[in-house]
Amino acid sequence: MYVHFPWCLSKCPYCDFASTTAKVVPEDRYTTALLRELAVRAEGLKAQPVDSIFFGGGTPSLWRPQLVGQVLEALASKLSLLPHAEVTLEANPGASDAGRFAAYRAAGVNRLSIGVQSFQPSTLKALGREHDGPLAVAAFEKARRAGFDNLSLDFIYGVHGQTAEQARLDATQAAALQPEHLSAYALTLEKEALAEEVPLARQLARGEVTLPPDEQVTGMQRAVEEVYAAAGLHRYEVSNYAKAGRHSRHNALYWTGGEYLALGVGATGRLGHRRYSNQRSAEKYLVEVEAQGVPTAQEEALDSPTLFRERLAMGLRLTNGIDLEALCRAYGEDFAPRRAQIELLTRHGLLRRDGARTQLTPAGFDVHSAVCARLM
Ligand code: SF4
Repeated sequence: MYVHFPWCLSKCPYCDFASTTAKVVPEDRYTTALLRELAVRAEGLKAQPVDSIFFGGGTPSLWRPQLVGQVLEALASKLSLLPHAEVTLEANPGASDAGRFAAYRAAGVNRLSIGVQSFQPSTLKALGREHDGPLAVAAFEKARRAGFDNLSLDFIYGVHGQTAEQARLDATQAAALQPEHLSAYALTLEKEALAEEVPLARQLARGEVTLPPDEQVTGMQRAVEEVYAAAGLHRYEVSNYAKAGRHSRHNALYWTGGEYLALGVGATGRLGHRRYSNQRSAEKYLVEVEAQGVPTAQEEALDSPTLFRERLAMGLRLTNGIDLEALCRAYGEDFAPRRAQIELLTRHGLLRRDGARTQLTPAGFDVHSAVCARLM
């Protein structure tokens, strides 16, 4: 279950999420709309077990805890929440208050994902983030004091002007806090026009900023991985690291072909062989839900070749990899030509076999998309 809250304190220049700012966030109106959307979308789904709820954004830690509690109660009444379901809420260090964190915990949120991005002033400035390192540490400590024993921190590396030493320092400071989970994403900026204005992508296209070369970015990734591994946080996915048993159950559903209901502005859900996306404009979303209950902007039927390609690409993001032969059987694809590719890519040190599973090596992770293209 994914629930989107689109409002933020300010819009970061690299952001291409469905996020926006407002002088006064219409959170009561939004909650009412969301519950209306839930009533329509949850019809006929009562028997489906729900393993995870993720409040993403935007900045859901701007959402009044009482309203988050209302959403959770409605979800519990309309769907079959498994006992011990993972309930995550994304928090921004700039919008993190001890009382709020305790109230989220009391409402049933049991995991926080804090968007630190960096502790270094120059990297935070380059990313246009409004918080600083000490504020991020304070947010983490407040979350612990509020009773969260499952915390994740998000970082970005490969930022313009960032050095490998700074990326390593970020990882060292993050590991010292002893979170259960860490994400470290390389900064990516699409040069093509997007639904939203992404100022940093335009600056990149105009040549006003330059991202570090690929070799330097992969060097940063290696440094980050080394620091985290020494702290007992092992890489289990291209960009994610966790202590034993603390991987993100929510993201694991995306990576292993799970189905997910999604609600809110710009949210994308997949049920069976159908994927839908909601309106990315908050105002359009509100108006459409209020008029007709659902704010669908796009809908597509997923055929077997599409599902096969997605399962292959998502599954190979995991260090555990995929059973490609079983996947081919499930989706009616021919395994024989792919066996030859696996052998070739294994000889080149990009893949390895573990029993029936095909896995990317560290060098393979660097070129994940290219390897997937070969196997498709
Ligand atoms: S806080 Fe996150 S969602 Fe909001 S603008 Fe920044 S990157 Fe985008």
